[in-house]
Amino acid sequence: MGVVGIGTMGNGIAQVCAQQGFATTVLDVDAGALERGMAAIKKSLDRLVASFDKSGGEKGISAEKKAEAESRLATTLDYSDLLGCDIVIEAATERLEIKQQIFGRLKELGYGGIIATNTSSISITRLAAHSPDPARFMGMHFMNPVPLQQGVEIIRGLLTSDATAQAVVELTRELGKTEIPAEDKAGFGINRMWVPFVNEAVRVVDEGVMAPDEADKCTLCLGHRMGPLATADYVGLDVILFICNVLEEEFGSAYKASPLLKRLVEGGQLGVKSGAGFYLYADGAAPVVNPAVARKRTR
Ligand code: NAD
Repeated sequence: MGVVGIGTMGNGIAQVCAQQGFATTVLDVDAGALERGMAAIKKSLDRLVASFDKSGGEKGISAEKKAEAESRLATTLDYSDLLGCDIVIEAATERLEIKQQIFGRLKELGYGGIIATNTSSISITRLAAHSPDPARFMGMHFMNPVPLQQGVEIIRGLLTSDATAQAVVELTRELGKTEIPAEDKAGFGINRMWVPFVNEAVRVVDEGVMAPDEADKCTLCLGHRMGPLATADYVGLDVILFICNVLEEEFGSAYKASPLLKRLVEGGQLGVKSGAGFYLYADGAAPVVNPAVARKRTR
């Protein structure tokens, strides 16, 4: 396996591949990014070992399994190290020009395997047009955090071959996940349903109907594990705004981003990664509602 990009998603994907027995080569833009990504994988595996020890082997993984998974991981800055891979999963930054550049490098070098992109919002068919062979290209949309989320949305582009689709289904299952097929339309299926839900929760806060912590108490009513605003902070409010814009472009004004979502992103309040979004995040402390948003509270 190859994984390109070892950020939030790439490190989770590489970890799961290695845990499930695949020799996995991870490529990123610089040595610093690779170091940070590998440190995140190590931390995640350490947590699984701690959970194994604490639960008497019922949960998590043993120290031996951790060592085996680590031994299957290799890092590189050199695209030629990906040429022997059967499948390369692309999980780099969500920008068309970055993904084009990555597929362009693989094409130049004559990569002959499958490319699966983890894009959350760019058309699979559009990305495939820049790949070595659109027949060997497919969407494989993992969810965050990858080691914990069971579902993987799989999306065929217009020219994806049956053999590629079959290989991606098999890989999904071998990674211990469940495939959820979706068509190549903006937001595919999951984000098309979920992002408007988040956007509406932001409107509820913007209009003073509920404060963020009140809106997130919908978990008590809907059976969700986490509220929409806490989840949006975790994913990144810039990411949510980007997806709203993609949905609006394809489906019209019903998907327009709420003004408060735009203001928060303009103000650098991006969620967990910037330390502030709908909540404030300080090391070791429980998140509290961001006063900039709580001002909307009417009671
Ligand atoms: P991230 O910013 O955490 O990581 C992106 C990684 O890509 C970084 O390590 C960066 O150094 C690397 N990168 C940038 N340019 C590169 C290049 N030219 N070559 C190789 N590596 C490069 O991003 P992320 O949140 O992990 O998102 C990655 C992909 O996964 C995106 O397509 C995103 O839409 C998708 N996705 C994200 C989430 C989420 O919750 N974050 C969920 C599902 C899908």
